[in-house]
Amino acid sequence: MSSDMNALQAKSAAPLDVIVVGAGFAGLYMSYRMRQAGLSAIVLEAGSDVGGTWYWNCYPGARCDVPSLEYSYSFSEELEQEWTWRERFATQPEILAYIRHVCDKFDLRRNIRFDTRVVSANFDDTEALWTLRTQADEAWRARFCVMATGCISEARIPDIAGVESFKGAIYHTGHWPQDGVEFAGKRVALIGTGSSGVQAIPCIAREAAHLTVFQRTPCYSVPARNAPLAPELVAEWKENCATKRAAARVSRVGVLHDYGTVPALETPADVRQKEFERRWIKGGTNFAYAYTDLGRNEQANECAASFVRAKIAEIVRDPETARKLTPVDYPIGAKRICVDTDYWETFNRSNVTLVDLRAEPIQSIGERSVNTQNGAYPADMLIMATGYDAITGALLAIDITTRAGASLRQAWAAGPRAYLGLAVAGFPNLFTITGPGSPSVISNVVLSIEQHVDWIAECLTGLGRQGVRQIEATDDAQERWVAHVQDVASGTLFSKANSWYLGANVPGKPRVFMPYVGGVGVYGNTCREVAEAGYRGFMLDGVESAKSRDVA
Ligand code: NAP
Repeated sequence: MSSDMNALQAKSAAPLDVIVVGAGFAGLYMSYRMRQAGLSAIVLEAGSDVGGTWYWNCYPGARCDVPSLEYSYSFSEELEQEWTWRERFATQPEILAYIRHVCDKFDLRRNIRFDTRVVSANFDDTEALWTLRTQADEAWRARFCVMATGCISEARIPDIAGVESFKGAIYHTGHWPQDGVEFAGKRVALIGTGSSGVQAIPCIAREAAHLTVFQRTPCYSVPARNAPLAPELVAEWKENCATKRAAARVSRVGVLHDYGTVPALETPADVRQKEFERRWIKGGTNFAYAYTDLGRNEQANECAASFVRAKIAEIVRDPETARKLTPVDYPIGAKRICVDTDYWETFNRSNVTLVDLRAEPIQSIGERSVNTQNGAYPADMLIMATGYDAITGALLAIDITTRAGASLRQAWAAGPRAYLGLAVAGFPNLFTITGPGSPSVISNVVLSIEQHVDWIAECLTGLGRQGVRQIEATDDAQERWVAHVQDVASGTLFSKANSWYLGANVPGKPRVFMPYVGGVGVYGNTCREVAEAGYRGFMLDGVESAKSRDVA
C-alpha cells in the first residue's frame, strides 16, 4: 500500500469528502477533478488495475467503434497534444495504454485502491455521511458517493442447463483472462452475436480448429474499415481539437458524424442507395445517421435495413447461412448496431458453423458439447458473448440504502428512476455517472462522462462554497424527468426490438427504456440550466433551492 493510501486509510476514521466507485474513464476523471478542487477522495476499484470496461474486455478483436480521436478525454490540451492514436478505431490494448498514461500523467494511482469490490453503501441521514463496505468488510466513509461503475460492466452468463458439467474452459468476453487464451487446435463454441461476439468471431475463427457460433438474434453489422490514422489527419485534429470537441458536445450523440439532413423518404431511391453505399464503404456507425428519419420511421428504416440485408446476401456464399444471419424482425439501430471487420466473411470459412437458436434452441451443455434438439455440437471451450445487465446492473449489484429506510433495489424494482441520470430521489449526496435517464450508452460515452463529472465537480465545489452539506433530487423533478425520457424515446423505433437498452435481455428485468435519446447537446444544456438555476429540482439541506419548473 502506498504511503498516500496509508494516509487515506488513517484518515478514513475521519470521513473523506468523496468516495468514487470504479477506476474506468469516469472514476479517473472524477478523481482528477476532486484533487484539483482540493477535496479528499478515494477511488475503490474491483479490478487489479485501472480501465474499467477496457481492463476487463481484453477478448480477441476488442476495439472501440467510436473514432479514437473522439473516444478520449478532452479536459487537458496537453494530453490531447501529446497522445497520438495509431488507428481510426482503437484496439482495447491501445485504449488501456491510453488510460494508464492518463493515470500516470496526472498521478492518479495514489488515490485508487485496487482489488476492492464495494458491496454496500449506506447513507446515515443524521451524520450526512455515506459508509461504503467492501467484500473484505472494510468500511470507508465520506460525505459524497459517486458511482462510476459503468453501464456495460455487469456481465451476464445465461442460466443454461448443464453448464456446470462442461469440462473445458468457459469465458465471458467481459471477464477475459488478462494473459489471453490459446485457441489453436480447439473446438470453440461461442454464444452471442452482439458487438462483442461480432468482434471476437473473426479473430477466433482464424486460430481455432473449429468455431461454432450460436446465434439467437441476427444482428445488423456494418464494416469498420479500420485503418492506420494518417499523420496529416492527426495533425489536423490536434490543431483544431478545441473546436471539434466543442462541436461534439452540442451534437446529437457526441460524435462528429456526417449527420444526414434530409429524410430518407423524401430522397429518390437511387440517391438513397448511393448514399448508403458511400457510408458502407466509409465504414463505422456513421451509416446509421444517413437520414433524419431512420430512427423514427419504420418505412425509412426499412430502406437502410434492406440495404444491409442485401450486403449479407452478397457476402455470405451459402444462401441458407446467409438467410439465418439476416435480421428481419426489428429495425436497424433499435438494438445497438454492430461494427465489424470480416464478420460476414467469416461465415464463408470451412471451420465455422452457424447454429440458429431460434430454429434449434440450446437444450443443455454437456461435458464437451452444446446440445440442441438437432444434436450435440462438440466443444472444448465455451465463450459467452452474452452481454450485460446494462446500465442498472452494476449499481444494483451494490446494496445502496439509507438509514432512513430507502433501498435502491426497492426504489428501482419496477425500473430505474433518476433525475437527469445523475441523482436519485431519496438518496442524498449520491451521484451516478452516466446513470439511467442520461445519454450514456447512446452517446460517445467518454464525452458524456466528462459532462457528468464536470457537472458533479462544479456542484460539489459550489455547495462547499455555500456551506451546503446535503443535496438530493426531489421526487417531483425526478418523476418529470423520467416521464420526459420515456416521452422522447416513444417517438423513436427503440421499442421495436428486445434490446438491453430496455432491459429485455435479462429475464425478469423491468422493461423500461433507460438512456436519454433527446441528444447530447440538448441534455448538456438542460444540466447547465439546472445548475444555473441554483440546482433546480434538488433540495439543498432539505430545502428546495429554486422554484421548481419543468426541466423537460
Ligand atoms: P449484447 O449486445 O447484449 O449481445 C449479447 C448477445 O448474446 C446477443 O446476441 C444475445 O442474443 C446473446 N444472448 C444473450 N443471452 C443468450 C442466451 N441465453 N442464449 C443465446 N444467446 C444469448 O452484448 P455485447 O455484445 O457484449 O455488447 C454489449 C454492448 O457493449 C454493445 O451493444 C455496445 O454498446 C458495447 N460494445 C461495444 C463494442 C464496440 O465499440 N465495438 C464492442 C463490444 C461491446 P439476443 O440478441 O437474442 O438477446
